[in-house]
Amino acid sequence: MSVITRTTCPYCGVGCGVLAERSDEGAITVRGDPEHPANLGRLCSKGIALAATLGEQGRLLQPEVDGLAVDWDTALDATAARLNACIAEHGPDSVALYVSGQLLTEDYYIANKLVKGYLGTANIDTNSRLCMSSAVSGHLRAFGEDVVPVDYDDVEAADLLVLVGSNLAWCHPVLMQRIQAAREKRPEVRVVVIDPRRTATAEMADLHLPLRSGSDVMLFNGLLVWLADQGCTDSAFVCAHTSGMAATLAAARVASTDIQATAQVCGLDPAQLQEFFVQFAATERVVTLFSQGVNQSSAGADKVNSIINCHLLTGRIARQGMGPFSITGQPNAMGGREVGGLSTQLAAHLSLDDAQHREAVQEFWNSPRMAAEPGPKAVDLFNAIDTGHIKAVWIIATNPVVSLPDADRVKRALQRCPLVIVSDCVAGNDTLPFAHIKLAAAGWAEKDGTVTNSDRHVSRQRQFLPLPGQARPDWWILCEVAQRMGFREGFQFATAAQIFDEHARLTAVARRFGRQLDLQGAAGLSAEQYDAMTPLQWPVAADHRPFADGRFSTPDGRARFIPAVARMPRHAPTAEFPLILNTGRIRDQWHTMTRTARAPQLNAHEPEPFIDAHPQDLEAAGVATGELVRVTARWGSAIARARASGEMPAGMLFMPIHWSAQFALDARVGAVVNPVVDALSGEPEFKHTPVRIERVEIEWRGFLLSRRGVAAPRGLWWASTTGEAMHRLEFAGRGTAAPDAQWLREALPELDGADRIEYADPGVGSYRLALLAGNTLQACLMVTRNGALPARGWLASLFCSGPLTISDRQALLRGARADVADPGATVCACFGVGTRAIQAAVQGGCSTVAAIGQRLKAGTNCGSCRPELTRIIAASSVPAAATPG
Ligand code: SF4
Repeated sequence: MSVITRTTCPYCGVGCGVLAERSDEGAITVRGDPEHPANLGRLCSKGIALAATLGEQGRLLQPEVDGLAVDWDTALDATAARLNACIAEHGPDSVALYVSGQLLTEDYYIANKLVKGYLGTANIDTNSRLCMSSAVSGHLRAFGEDVVPVDYDDVEAADLLVLVGSNLAWCHPVLMQRIQAAREKRPEVRVVVIDPRRTATAEMADLHLPLRSGSDVMLFNGLLVWLADQGCTDSAFVCAHTSGMAATLAAARVASTDIQATAQVCGLDPAQLQEFFVQFAATERVVTLFSQGVNQSSAGADKVNSIINCHLLTGRIARQGMGPFSITGQPNAMGGREVGGLSTQLAAHLSLDDAQHREAVQEFWNSPRMAAEPGPKAVDLFNAIDTGHIKAVWIIATNPVVSLPDADRVKRALQRCPLVIVSDCVAGNDTLPFAHIKLAAAGWAEKDGTVTNSDRHVSRQRQFLPLPGQARPDWWILCEVAQRMGFREGFQFATAAQIFDEHARLTAVARRFGRQLDLQGAAGLSAEQYDAMTPLQWPVAADHRPFADGRFSTPDGRARFIPAVARMPRHAPTAEFPLILNTGRIRDQWHTMTRTARAPQLNAHEPEPFIDAHPQDLEAAGVATGELVRVTARWGSAIARARASGEMPAGMLFMPIHWSAQFALDARVGAVVNPVVDALSGEPEFKHTPVRIERVEIEWRGFLLSRRGVAAPRGLWWASTTGEAMHRLEFAGRGTAAPDAQWLREALPELDGADRIEYADPGVGSYRLALLAGNTLQACLMVTRNGALPARGWLASLFCSGPLTISDRQALLRGARADVADPGATVCACFGVGTRAIQAAVQGGCSTVAAIGQRLKAGTNCGSCRPELTRIIAASSVPAAATPG
């Protein structure tokens, strides 16, 4: 009998429910949970591929101390002793924890309790600082508490959806699917996208406003002024429930005098801007969704408040179908905010700055001490390591050498740090080489606890696989270390359920201070009740709608208008660095790819790091699409393949955040990104770094497809990826050391006796070699100095098809068969449908996404590729492939 476990997806903040089914033979399949309120059965491409990310290969399965595998007692004793020694010599502020929105709430709760209540420092921050701390600051200023006052039902009930700085179709695909479904039921629903890039989300909008990078405050100040001048103020609401409107309006009027002035600064067509303003004014039910495009800015908090101001002015908040909606990036960013994972928070939405709050939490914890003031935010925390003020850091479930801005400085800081402890579930990432102590953590399928998604639903993540090797849950590791540091009383938890109970009970203390965070209804659960817990939304009491009574969490109960002064990003382009680098996610990868890159179907959509640019900027740099390009800023550089997708405005580049040294040489975009942060929130300006680009001069390039992955040849650049039954390695370089038969013999010695089909033309620098065992392809190497390379799709398909036919063998070194079309880059990850097949279907008469679905199945499962299908249909031809194959 197979066993089905209800759990949650570990990726984005939509927080989809997942049914994981384990067969008698141990095979795992995953599908959407039709009963989960976040997704109602839907999953995106990443969620659907979860089963393919499982398995022990590449896992960290045993703790290590100073490079030696050890048992847990040794590792935990060493961790506790070295942290204690550091504190004894340098004080509690010499140690820090850097944690993650990937942690479960129970893990987060223990980490925060240990640091703030027992070590007595607030030196704990989280990678959530990088994606949503500006929203936290905006909420705290406006509402007096970090509360998202909207949920997914409101999104479906809205008549106008304004998506600001959010590529929802790629970054929160299931929420986009819900919006699409709502539009199908109610075609009158309008969607406006505000984003410099013409993203897949913008393609689906009724109106796209490609504003100038960083001009969001100007735009929303302009809207505020216009709404006030048009008589759209909800005076009753403003008078009864808000403060600060006059000063905020006056501040907005300084620069945003009228539509013309606003449009000019924002680089927008005044008529389009007016169209948006009119729609906003005329629509009662407006939800403004915003994400990293707003938050990741030196003016992030002001951008958030400029949006909230418009909702306060019109009274469009805390009622059905309206309000400002911050969509979180990570699966448990919200849970981290609830327990105080940020260095600027205490716990249970209470404040580190408030002595009464500190006293109340210390009393509840019965802890020996309490942090007296906020600690350093993520970028400052690593700067403090670099300068030697922090001498021991424990990094849990995150990869800062890739994900932080000015990432080479992070590398240097960790190199210098006397004690680096890393807890992770993988054996290899860019941060682990710096660890003196490695702690083997449980992975998604092995963990038990809760997460909170973007709309305040707390869901159970349930274990459905046994712990592999010596891996242990993060909360267990933290509790063990805490006890060995001498804190026996506060950390004697035997289960995640016991920790959740303490967290839920602490919210009763928060309620005494008027906080909306209320999980009291979930306190006191037995182990069985915790295990059976269905998703619950806080506030658990009443109708789950925060501020529905018009009372906010500020001392006077009024929401605050916050004057937001329009200012542009800190670093303007210069003659030396004339372009702006924007960064973000792609559809099928997650963070630094440590998990998603294990799933072949997720690697097919974008197999290489790329830089997207306007054709005019590529031309100015002398770069053709498909060539390698180096992007350089004051802080560092990276290499990727150039493309011109049509999404980018002139003067702006886009590079994904995902690639690390595990998957490509020199492709960490974090090394390029400037370390400027928002003064209030500490969130980095990931969306705006002045850069230049230049062509990477190469003399040879090629690829290897092989059943086993191999180390890259020495050269200027490489990128590797895992496909179905094969690995793909792309490379390029200069000089005489181009990969050849000798290199392949050393890379794959087990194929020494394999059959060879070979072609070499030293005159033009071409070399092609296929290695076969009987009629199965084992490896295929293709190198050229001056010529073309074949597409990779057909060759890659031979690794998972049956025995080669004579026609296949004859075509091997050509890399293509005349009678078999190469599929092109994958668009639909679920059914492996490529661009060329879709193009052929369009040319064959399929003029709608539904028609393509009928013919090719593309877009009929998770739906994440539908925006791209729409784009291909609209273009009536396949966009130029930026990556080969
Ligand atoms: S939208 Fe996709 S990545 Fe996000 S939680 Fe749902 S299935 Fe996971």
